[in-house]
Amino acid sequence: MPNSKSSILDSQTDGMVWRAYISQEDCISCGACVSHCPNGAIYLWNDKYSVDTGTCHFVQSCFSSCPADAIYPIQVPWNSI
Ligand code: SF4
Repeated sequence: MPNSKSSILDSQTDGMVWRAYISQEDCISCGACVSHCPNGAIYLWNDKYSVDTGTCHFVQSCFSSCPADAIYPIQVPWNSI
């Protein structure tokens, strides 16, 4: 499956690091992901959950916890976090 999350992770851009991202459009605010983050990086904001990219260590344990498939890997500049 060419657009799967795992195939996306095969591409790493210099100067960038992977982090989890929650789609505010797809999040149903169930809170299931919160307890799956060992770093406490997921927080409630405006009735939706978000990931603090400075706290996220990309352990990826939140991905499979989401019933709405709202959590995605994104690359952010390492010097921006
Ligand atoms: S598990 Fe998914 S739907 Fe539930 S709060 Fe987290 S991101 Fe939103």
